[in-house]
Amino acid sequence: MTIQPPATGCRDVPVLKERGQREVFCGLTGIIWLHRKMQDAFFLVVGSRTCAHLLQSAAGVMIFAEPRFGTAILEEKDLAGLADANTELDREVARLLSRRPDIRQLFLVGSCPSEVIKLDLHRAAERLSALHAPHVRVLNFTGSGIETTFTQGEDACLAAMVPALAPTQARELLLVGALPDVVEDQALALLSAMGIGPVRCLPSRRADDAPAVGPNTVFALTQPFLGSTHEALTRRGARHIPAPFPFGEEGTTLWLRAVAKEFGVSDATFDAVTAAPRARAIKAIASQADTLNGKTLFMFPDSQLEPPLARFLTRECGMVALEVGTPYLHRDILGPDLDLLAKGPVISEGQDVDRQLDRARAARPDLTVCGLGLANPLEAEGLTTKWAIELVFTPVHFYEQAGDLAALFARPLRRRALLNASKLEAAE
Ligand code: SF4
Repeated sequence: MTIQPPATGCRDVPVLKERGQREVFCGLTGIIWLHRKMQDAFFLVVGSRTCAHLLQSAAGVMIFAEPRFGTAILEEKDLAGLADANTELDREVARLLSRRPDIRQLFLVGSCPSEVIKLDLHRAAERLSALHAPHVRVLNFTGSGIETTFTQGEDACLAAMVPALAPTQARELLLVGALPDVVEDQALALLSAMGIGPVRCLPSRRADDAPAVGPNTVFALTQPFLGSTHEALTRRGARHIPAPFPFGEEGTTLWLRAVAKEFGVSDATFDAVTAAPRARAIKAIASQADTLNGKTLFMFPDSQLEPPLARFLTRECGMVALEVGTPYLHRDILGPDLDLLAKGPVISEGQDVDRQLDRARAARPDLTVCGLGLANPLEAEGLTTKWAIELVFTPVHFYEQAGDLAALFARPLRRRALLNASKLEAAE
């Protein structure tokens, strides 16, 4: 396999940095996919009724007999400093844990209100861990909208777990990022077929399977938004394997190739293991690419997945990127993707939503990827949109999902084409 990088990639292009009003979910959103992944964890948001509503509406489609997240509501008296929020928190946690012996990890999740009243959740987690050890480990992270955009909640959660991981001298591969189980199993099967192992996952599905970490650990990120986790693992002596992210056939092949190289896998083995799924991915993408080919793309900053997805959509689906926005641009992590993304689109970091809307309106892209709040008004103006949030709720990584990933972007374009056709018919 030879990959042709563009003559000039985007790694060193000037970045448009914006620091204005932003339209993006807070980090609490990550709880929706994290609680599905970590089967004996509970996420207790220490927040307001607004936070509870966000979680309920984002998770609205899932009704659990025993949910794995909840909100400890800070009432007005807490916010006014009239009650000891720590005492109430201890009481809530004791009640929860006595009712739910299945909980092995408890995350206290900070929010805007808990930050405003400066509730020290780190200290609370230490106190509660001492009280409920060894059965339950209590950790904390923030999902506050003041500090985090929506995928940063996962990063903050995983980074909080790293210092608590056991030390090891073993040479192990660590896959980092909360993938749906079925997707994680596909990745593990490919790695195992190449003879790569032992492989551990962060987060693990159960607390007892938590990985250990040390100077001989090498890790591969499966999500581009894990900057703090990358830093925390590096501090523990682990080494990152840089690679493009496993989106599409090309991204998956390059990601696997980087890991295979680290573990000395021969080209023959690599090709034998990947040939069939690669062929399936190429075919599945081709069935969507006709709709996407030549269409222009404008990405608002939401999930930090934007640069690798722009790489996939331009190189494998023939789209033309006009602007690729991302809340944060972590150059070390995204460098391999930026190398492959041909110079041309505006690369923007952060947001000043009004200015960005002006640029989108002037560009009139065929497809705009943006948050829920912007999608409806832009649709009303005749632009075709894709909700960025679907990209984190839908299985999109690795070969078997490559066609579905392309379809996520092709669907709104097909819908718009059908609408236009039926309008034309009605007018005739
Ligand atoms: S953490 Fe902040 S932004 Fe998020 S739901 Fe709560 S109040 Fe809103």
